[in-house]
Amino acid sequence: MRIDILGVGFDNLTPDQAVEEGLRLIHGGGSHYVVTPNPEIVEACRRDPAVMEAVNGADLVLADGIGVIYGAKILGTPLRGRVTGIAFAQKLMERMAQGGETLFLLGAKPGYAQQAAENLQRQYPGLRIVGTNDGYFKEDGPIVEKIRASGAQVVFVCLGAPKQEFWMAKNGAATGAGLLVGLGGCLDIFSGNVKRAPVLFQKLGLEWFYRLCKEPSRIGRMMKLPLFLVHVTGERGKRK
Ligand code: UDP
Repeated sequence: MRIDILGVGFDNLTPDQAVEEGLRLIHGGGSHYVVTPNPEIVEACRRDPAVMEAVNGADLVLADGIGVIYGAKILGTPLRGRVTGIAFAQKLMERMAQGGETLFLLGAKPGYAQQAAENLQRQYPGLRIVGTNDGYFKEDGPIVEKIRASGAQVVFVCLGAPKQEFWMAKNGAATGAGLLVGLGGCLDIFSGNVKRAPVLFQKLGLEWFYRLCKEPSRIGRMMKLPLFLVHVTGERGKRK
């Protein structure tokens, strides 16, 4: 059962439930992908049906961003809570380190994925990272082949939205991986090249504000949040 927010169907799961579901998908056969839309991506879906299709085509649609949680509340269909991409990835890696599933890291600037792999292997002893590649390749074919040859069961696809959603929808099955996860800027963080907001900001749901202060050029992207709330409020009016 998905909760509809402006056409995007969100799975109503806690982070732990989401990870259980992720593991089930890894071992259930076939190829699956996970997306973690924030209000900016929901707005992109409204503008472009192709983005909507790639997002709703995912096997798990997790509510990243406090804005989505507010949106669900305003619409009278509250979600259990946020499942940020980074929290999902961290919990999943904990479990993979115990279970022995293999991981490929795809995305970010040259060198970042490799740095991230080294850090993650230290943080999650036992985690099996079987390959990495940066996110600035020209053709999909050789990358798909590299992932397939690595035998990875899980791929973190960090190409930014909506590029990563399109990439997973198109190439997921050909990689042979059971689960692909679209994680935006996570490799920038795992590699240590970008710092996360202090924990207090994270807890208050103000990570976006911290990022805005650090990178004021993101203001254009962030103005999508008020727009999203306007659209949600309009939708509530229609549903009444
Ligand atoms: N990126 C990439 N290939 C591209 C464009 C972007 O690998 O062609 C990477 C970029 O280096 C960054 C990530 O995708 O690591 C996007 O980060 P951003 O913070 O914009 O992602 P968000 O989570 O906000 O979508």
